[in-house]
Amino acid sequence: MHAILQAGAPQPLVSAKASLAGLGREGLRAALAGVGVPDKQLNMRLGQLWSWIYVRGATDFNDMSDVSKELRATLASAYCLDRPEIVTEQASVDGTRKWLLRLPIRGHEARAPEIETVYIPEADRGTLCISSQVGCTLTCSFCHTGTQRLVRNLEASEVVGQVLLARDRIGDWPAAAPPRDGAPLPAIERKITNVVLMGMGEPLYNFASVRDAMAVVADGDGLAISKRRITLSTSGVVPEIPRWGEEAGTMLAISLHAVRDELRDKLVPINRKYPITELMAACRAYPGLSNARRITFEYVMLKGVNDSLADAKALVKLLAGIPAKINLIPFNPWPGTAHECSDWEQIERFAEIVNRAGYASPVRTPRGRDIMAACGQLRSESAKLSARERKVAQGAA
Ligand code: SAH
Ligand code: SF4
Repeated sequence: MHAILQAGAPQPLVSAKASLAGLGREGLRAALAGVGVPDKQLNMRLGQLWSWIYVRGATDFNDMSDVSKELRATLASAYCLDRPEIVTEQASVDGTRKWLLRLPIRGHEARAPEIETVYIPEADRGTLCISSQVGCTLTCSFCHTGTQRLVRNLEASEVVGQVLLARDRIGDWPAAAPPRDGAPLPAIERKITNVVLMGMGEPLYNFASVRDAMAVVADGDGLAISKRRITLSTSGVVPEIPRWGEEAGTMLAISLHAVRDELRDKLVPINRKYPITELMAACRAYPGLSNARRITFEYVMLKGVNDSLADAKALVKLLAGIPAKINLIPFNPWPGTAHECSDWEQIERFAEIVNRAGYASPVRTPRGRDIMAACGQLRSESAKLSARERKVAQGAA
């Protein structure tokens, strides 16, 4: 049963004009210069625009009361402030919200690509899970996204656009009204306190765009979500980990899932290229680690595959000496998967060993299951359609 409180919120068709929402300072500066703002006014105008877009969440140039009427009209004739288009919006009884979003066609795409974004509220925080790619080039055996081929990388503005859209929809701007869907929200002023790059795609394979997007999200004069509250999750693109630490400096999560190369090669195939020892070395060297700034190690619980108590012991041994959090994720099954979630008793026994080694609350509570919003289930409806279409095409051949 789907507990959908609100579905299919239609949005106006995305206009043909390019959107300024989601751009970084350089992009906005170029847009202002492009419509004829003189050099000596650029910094001032940029500051105004930045604040309207990222502090107040403006979606209409006309609201920008401290910008001259003339410039507002010029900007509106050349640009828009559209967010990604909403295809569907679902709210779970537990307050988890999921959006299927449509992005503009770029290049030779036959159809507009779609991605998913998920919001997970808790009492004292709100976490937004965003996508970095449409599909994924990697093929982790337990991941639904991994069954979809890569369609394309997201542009930086499309990564930021997910944050803007989520703030619109949950009323997380200073002057916004609360949403009308009645789904619970955290009882704090800012509703999105954390961002995790745990949606569709491998963010380190879209390095520059994701880095530039996180600079906008973390900007203290704008969205102001600090880098300590942004977490990039990677399947283990080892050479990019130190570079990410240096150039972006957010928190890091590693999709570990297995403690032996032989098994990890199968579950997370990128392991064949960058095995566990190399991955651990990159983790140890990640800048700024301390007890207050730990790496999260994600470990999906797969029945009879990686959930033995010997695996649990090997896991704590492997992570010894690294400031680490362990996140045991109950496997979320999806149609056609060969895996099963470990039995609850086994997860508890596994967690007990991890717990005794000093890692607090290691099991991640599944959220939004009624709307298929949980980890690894982010795979758009159109992707399912194209799979069906592929089948039809194969049948015809
Ligand atoms: N590509 C990146 C980030 C996206 S996946 C990565 O792999 O880290 C976010 C997390 O969800 C990863 O730890 C991933 O391994 C996990 N995941 C994927 N499919 C899952 C499933 N079906 N059940 C539980 N967790 C899953
Ligand atoms: Fe890609 Fe991450 Fe899924 Fe692996 S787990 S297929 S890297 S999205």
